[in-house]
Amino acid sequence: MNHESVQTVVIVGAGQAGANAVLELRAHQYQGRIILIGDEPHLPYERPPLSKDVILKPEQTKIEILSEEKLAALNVEIIRGNGVVKIHPEAHTVALKNGDVISYDKLLLATGGAARRLPNFDALGQHVYTLRNLEDSQALVPVLQPGRRIILIGGGVIGLELASSARSKDCQVTVIEMGPMVMGRCSPQILSEFLLSQHRQNGVDVQLETQIMDCRLERTVDGEEVVVNLENGQELRADAVIYGIGIVPNAQLAIDAGLQVDSAIQVNEHCQSSQPDIYAAGDVATQLRANGTYQRIETWENANIQAGIFARHIMGIEHPVPSPAWFWTDQFNINFQFAGDMTATEWHIRGEMNQHKTADHCFVVFGVNEGKIVAGITVNAAKEMRHLKKMIAKKTLFSTTNHLDLTQDLKKLVA
Ligand code: FAD
Ligand code: NDP
Repeated sequence: MNHESVQTVVIVGAGQAGANAVLELRAHQYQGRIILIGDEPHLPYERPPLSKDVILKPEQTKIEILSEEKLAALNVEIIRGNGVVKIHPEAHTVALKNGDVISYDKLLLATGGAARRLPNFDALGQHVYTLRNLEDSQALVPVLQPGRRIILIGGGVIGLELASSARSKDCQVTVIEMGPMVMGRCSPQILSEFLLSQHRQNGVDVQLETQIMDCRLERTVDGEEVVVNLENGQELRADAVIYGIGIVPNAQLAIDAGLQVDSAIQVNEHCQSSQPDIYAAGDVATQLRANGTYQRIETWENANIQAGIFARHIMGIEHPVPSPAWFWTDQFNINFQFAGDMTATEWHIRGEMNQHKTADHCFVVFGVNEGKIVAGITVNAAKEMRHLKKMIAKKTLFSTTNHLDLTQDLKKLVA
């Protein structure tokens, strides 16, 4: 099927990947019908501010990706608050919750993921929160008030960003992480230690390598509190518990439709699933990489990139070689950016990584494998990131004398 015969593209999931797929299709001159289907009541919005500005300055924060006017200008039909419940690949149709059936020529699954659950906490019913969507974030605004005792379970990105937001609201914050490092899934040890020091200096009680043994609600004179017993013997009492222990891809539709799924939907380099007319992008997709393995990348940028790959493939346009995986996090007014392979064997610091300084300093970290730059991290040094990305893409040879010398311009060292 060439692109002229693609009359209808249906996109399931009106989040980061879904919204960008719309923009990319129109940017690449797709003239056919686009139907964007979301199960949330909202227009497509960005999630990164949900753990940060939506909590800290809700009135000033705009998160919308596509307005009604923009959707109308792009001639996109949007269905909100009415998710897809079934795909019929042979018939090329999807069924909606309200019983409507919609036909497609090409289908994109951009259904994202859901917070992984802790049933023993959910069973408490009250004072327990997770964070994935706008309502979750808005629900935290009245919870994170000065003096409140907050336990964050999971020292990943959600846990740490919320710890930072909660401390700026003057909450008393404890983070419980069962692994030996914070942000251990996406950060090398050297940076994890720096993050840990920042959290501790900013008053967060971070407890590593311990697990929750028990949790319960107890009555107090003015209400209720959550009591948590840890494996290390401690008993903690809190006004609220928020947990962020990873996500589960929303892949059930694909499983039911017989697509190849491990924990996520397996797609090729064009984001095509095992059914060639069905694509997947974003957190729900695991993509075949040049090294022959499937990899799922849970970032804002990856959702946008895969949306672009999908749109270009529909239009028969070759897509550029993707740049190294990149994401950012903002904690305690420090901007961290990470690119490339965080499992690199050697790490070298350019500048001063002073554990005792807080928001006002900057440095760069190089990740090196077999003498070549394969990863880079900037701390309050965002403008250096594009040079690092180029070095990673080119596998530039690392030189201690050049790359760690602050008098040398990184731009000139891209080779
Ligand atoms: P989503 O944006 O989650 O969109 C999926 C949409 O599909 C949702 O609206 C969902 O409700 C809908 N859906 C699901 N099932 C159905 C169905 N059956 N029918 C219809 N609709 C359905 N990344 C960064 O790089 N930097 C950050 O600072 C950062 N901060 C983050 C902060 C938070 C609090 C969160 C939750 C994520 C953050 N991320 C960040 C990650 C980034 O937001 C995600 O990787 C990105 O949103 C993934 O896009 P997606 O389109 O795959 O999924
Ligand atoms: P992460 O996978 O980043 O972190 C979860 C953390 O919780 C891990 O350190 C994990 O340890 C730990 N953990 C798992 N189970 C338990 C447990 N029972 N008790 C204590 N700790 C536990 O997921 P998040 O929930 O932090 O984030 C969810 C999603 O939101 C991800 O897709 C993430 O990328 C995205 N996000 C991204 C942001 C960014 O990029 N700036 C900001 C906020 C969210 P282990 O690794 O050992 O399993």
